[in-house]
Amino acid sequence: QEETVVQPRNDEKRILSHIAVLEGAPALSEYWSLFETNEGLFNEARTTQAATIVFSLTQNNQIEAIARQIHTLRRQRGSALKIVVRENTTSLRATDERLLLGCGANMVIPWNAPLSRCLTLIESIQGQQFNRYVPEDISTLLSMTQPMKLRGYQKWDTFCEAVSNMMSNTLLPENGKGVMVALRPVPGIRIEQALTLCRPNRTGDIMTIGDNRLVLFLSFCRVNDLDTALNHIFPLPTGDIFSNRMIWFEDNLISAEIVQMQTLEPEQWGKPLLMASDAKPVLNATHDGHAWRRTPEPLRLLNDAEERAS
Ligand code: C2E
Ligand code: C2E
Ligand code: C2E
Repeated sequence: QEETVVQPRNDEKRILSHIAVLEGAPALSEYWSLFETNEGLFNEARTTQAATIVFSLTQNNQIEAIARQIHTLRRQRGSALKIVVRENTTSLRATDERLLLGCGANMVIPWNAPLSRCLTLIESIQGQQFNRYVPEDISTLLSMTQPMKLRGYQKWDTFCEAVSNMMSNTLLPENGKGVMVALRPVPGIRIEQALTLCRPNRTGDIMTIGDNRLVLFLSFCRVNDLDTALNHIFPLPTGDIFSNRMIWFEDNLISAEIVQMQTLEPEQWGKPLLMASDAKPVLNATHDGHAWRRTPEPLRLLNDAEERAS
């Protein structure tokens, strides 16, 4: 018998969009419907099957909720739906973009694409069928965005084990798990001192010392962004602190170096300087999200006794 009934797709031309996507412009045609919230958009989208759905992302804390909505729509409404995420204002981490695409979005439109370009991009996916596999359980996808819960200094063996676990995690992108860099201090700076200048902020950024080297692993950092990341992590130009660097960013090369590192005798492992919790930091500087700022400190030229005498 002949195969029957292709599902009717009379909503193919509809565009359901968060209102922020049009940046204040009214609906562009009878096909457009605008929604005040992603939630409202999602609820209406659950009744569609081939329409275009455009979410708006304005804050990082919306990522997970939008990911869940996209995952539900894609699993329940099928492959003819065209799902788009428009970044408004914020810029997403590459791992966030991968999450949204993994959940079933056809496309993420970056914040720096102007409205006209955004509309062209929406047009470009008309008629498209989504054909990537979307796992039934979203937790697999969510756990990929932050596989390592560690941050900052780790003992040599802990460091090696953490990086090695990351390398053997098959859910993470091949050759896209991060960058490892080994730095040797300039003469006159001990490795323990250099360590006090290394201040990673992002969870998943870890370091260790041993064999007169400081070894950093930066989760999901891409090699072309290494200098940006190092500038976030060190309050001084790294060239002033280190004379030599080696970089690994492919899975098998990182793994090979870790195997090599694991042969280092425990006597050679570095130990961080003991610092009382109220000790003054080596450099009194904080990172404000853009640059390192030194904090000015009041300074008296004379001590109390001399001041009274004068
Ligand atoms: P950006 O600050 O210019 O960083 C560009 C890329 O350098 C990042 O891409 C990442 O691959 C790498 N990178 C920079 N700093 C670090 C770091 O401290 N640790 C690691 N492991 N990698 C780092 P990515 O992740 O795709 O992020 C793109 C942009 O999104 C960033 O550009 C930044 O503007 C923004 N962003 C991402 N995460 C955060 C965050 O936690 N806070 C803030 N304020 N902005 C963020
Ligand atoms: P986290 O990932 O542990 O990052 C802690 C802090 O490191 C951030 O604080 C930010 O000051 C700095 N940082 C990390 N990565 C970057 C980067 O690529 N560029 C710049 N400029 N700074 C970076 P912040 O911004 O207050 O964020 C606090 C937490 O909120 C983050 O902890 C993370 O859990 C979450 N978050 C912030 N932005 C993003 C994002 O774009 N994507 C995701 N998935 N989470 C984010
Ligand atoms: P400067 O402007 O003479 O500032 C000397 C020091 O005063 C700064 O050292 C910092 O410790 C403090 N300071 C001045 N303005 C501010 C401020 O708005 N916030 C904070 N938290 N501290 C401030 P620092 O940070 O090492 O900067 C050295 C020099 O680099 C500055 O000398 C200035 O010439 C330049 N600079 C640094 N950051 C900026 C910036 O954000 N904008 C501009 N225009 N110049 C900057």
